[in-house]
Amino acid sequence: MPLLPLVYYGNPLLRKKSDVLEEITDEIRILADNMLETMDQNNGIGLAAPQIGRCVRLFILRNYVETPDGHIHLTQPQVYINPKLSSPSEETQLGEEGCLSVPGVHVDVERPLKITIEALDLDGKSFTEHLVGYKARVVMHENDHLNGVLHIDRTDPETRKLVEPELQAIKKKYN
Ligand code: ZN
Repeated sequence: MPLLPLVYYGNPLLRKKSDVLEEITDEIRILADNMLETMDQNNGIGLAAPQIGRCVRLFILRNYVETPDGHIHLTQPQVYINPKLSSPSEETQLGEEGCLSVPGVHVDVERPLKITIEALDLDGKSFTEHLVGYKARVVMHENDHLNGVLHIDRTDPETRKLVEPELQAIKKKYN
């Protein structure tokens, strides 16, 4: 499967609102496969279609198990098409996030602890998940990409200021 070129911070495609996928074609199934390969090669946990330059409402992630010493071990992949988030918990959690489109920039982001997601799988079948903790965070991060939002938009103003030079460097290097 071919690797897909990632798009990086500074590319306007990352700021677009993605389109609803009207039909799940073979082309989309191949796209999802190639995205998985691309995500794994880049040691990512999640990847949204705009990150490879396709502005459609699709993202993938790898599930995981947490070992007793706190390490994350990645397991089977999962595809989310036309996702809808609902019922965010009032309780929030602060956690560090990275992004393959913003290499090297890790920032703390406060997000709801729990979220419900309804989406379609690659067969067009609807499914619902009630997520807590780390997977909820990954899903919210990837869903943000479909709306042109990045993790650096959700960090506190001081952190945002602090990483600005790195962001400018990424812009220069990749665009
Ligand atoms: Zn990201």
